[in-house]
Amino acid sequence: MQDFDRFLLTVVYDLANLIFVVDQGDGTIVYANQYMRDTLGADCVGRRFAEQFSGAGGAHHFISYNQQHGAEAAPPPLQSEYYDDESENWYHVQQRQIAWIDGSPKIVFVLSEINALKRLQKDLTEAHATLAFKNRELEISARTDRLTSLYNRYQLDQVITSEFQRFRRYGKPFSVLLADCDQFKQVNDTYGHPAGDAVLIDLARLLQSNIRATDTLGRWGGEEFLAILPETGLDNASQLAEKLRATISAYVFPAVGHKTASFGIAQIRPDENIKDLVARADKALYLAKANGRNRVEALA
Ligand code: GH3
Ligand code: MG
Ligand code: MG
Repeated sequence: MQDFDRFLLTVVYDLANLIFVVDQGDGTIVYANQYMRDTLGADCVGRRFAEQFSGAGGAHHFISYNQQHGAEAAPPPLQSEYYDDESENWYHVQQRQIAWIDGSPKIVFVLSEINALKRLQKDLTEAHATLAFKNRELEISARTDRLTSLYNRYQLDQVITSEFQRFRRYGKPFSVLLADCDQFKQVNDTYGHPAGDAVLIDLARLLQSNIRATDTLGRWGGEEFLAILPETGLDNASQLAEKLRATISAYVFPAVGHKTASFGIAQIRPDENIKDLVARADKALYLAKANGRNRVEALA
């Protein structure tokens, strides 16, 4: 043997990887480096590959390799990962055909233990999943009102903006509806804040279940709700507001009895912006209050 080959063998001998050579014909281990002998026992040489790696998929590595390529054919180099469930170790497996010292074709295996890498991969995957979940939670909570579970003002702003853009680009009409509970302060003063909260939750549910799926309802503030009604002119918005008004005034709120709400509606005009539109709906609402509450007012 050349000096350099001898040098290489010495290096291989000491490497902290499982390095061994297998007969391509019958799967017998014909060489094992020191680390392999220390790990599996010196008697592993002469044994069948499949006996030594009986963990899930162990034999598979050699057998499928052989089956795919045949004992005589020269198989391409292969890299894979193997979990040895006996030792509970993960290995990176490199295998490739070599011409052995006697000239015969053999397969050399280099197994590197990759437990730390696998642990890291698993941690990373878990962290990623947790992060994705938290992100989703955050996204939802960023646009949700905590008390009523309706959209909050931030999300209403987003929806109005996109509806306004549709109006600008395609001339699609839309209206906004503001609803404000009448004499709500009395509820708090008479029954306490938690009772007030319960009324707001019921109000949210009543409103939500009486609008279309394409409408967007949210909590505008305190005891005020805003609905964005796409493809809806003032007449239809008015009909809807009237239906909501009647539904609320007919409802008996547990603990507090009857409550009413006032409504202000406005349809987008060609010359106005979102702020003006909402201000107009607010003015209409003010009018409904001034005209005696439990009413719908529209400002064309
Ligand atoms: P109006 O008919 O003119 O609308 O009278 P109002 O009493 O409903 O109106 P006002 O604006 O004077 O009072 C609104 C009250 O709503 C005052 C505030 O304490 C109460 N409020 C705002 N947010 C909440 C909430 O989240 N929970 C409860 N319980 N009360 C709230
Ligand atoms: Mg009010
Ligand atoms: Mg109010």
